[in-house]
Amino acid sequence: MDFLDEGEYITRREAMVTSQIMQRGILEPHLLEAMRTVPRHLFVPRGYRRYAYSDHPLPIGDGQTISQPYMVALMTSLLDLNPEATVLEIGTGSGYQAAILSHLAREVHTVEIIPEVAARAQKLLTSLGYTNVFLHTGDGSFGWLESAPYDGIIVTAAAKEIPQALLDQLKPSGCLIIPTGGPSLQHIQKWTRENGEWTTENILAVSFVPLRGAEGWTHDEWPI
Ligand code: SAH
Repeated sequence: MDFLDEGEYITRREAMVTSQIMQRGILEPHLLEAMRTVPRHLFVPRGYRRYAYSDHPLPIGDGQTISQPYMVALMTSLLDLNPEATVLEIGTGSGYQAAILSHLAREVHTVEIIPEVAARAQKLLTSLGYTNVFLHTGDGSFGWLESAPYDGIIVTAAAKEIPQALLDQLKPSGCLIIPTGGPSLQHIQKWTRENGEWTTENILAVSFVPLRGAEGWTHDEWPI
């Protein structure tokens, strides 16, 4: 059976927050509240709903994945958002990360390159009433200039190199969270400015799907 009753999803979501997020040291109250609130099981395909709160990524169709809950929490925490922030996500996918961000920022812009994936996410985000999430269909490897500058940019696909446009679209105090690397090895990096100079910190080895588009990986370089 694909569906559990609503109470079971809530129990699993609570357990996810305690055992996967808090146990690993993420304790920001607003972030934990967002993780407790967003119904992650609705962001995965029906056949995977019972695994929605498990400690790993899941397929969402079109060869793409929704990240492991801890990865969403960690990358969100690294953004250091305040409630007035305008944030940009590249790689909408299921829309789950955007939904989490919408609880923590004033405005969320999210860009998805695959039109079918974008349409699915838009439908769900609208039905759940996320009015501060603005979904754009297109190549986010150039960022999203119309709504720049951003307090934070989060990329949820692995970049070949850091797209300069993303750095250019940040406010002076803004930060970029981005996995970089190829099919076999990637690291999450945090880019911030100190006295006008970019500094970068390697956070964690990870495994993401490739960033495509003009500044991303080609299918020949990285087939999936
Ligand atoms: N954040 C998502 C998971 C991202 S999976 C979630 O919460 O579910 C990575 C997504 O990035 C995929 O949907 C992929 O199509 C998209 N993507 C890859 N390259 C892109 C680009 N250049 N611009 C926008 N989206 C891109």
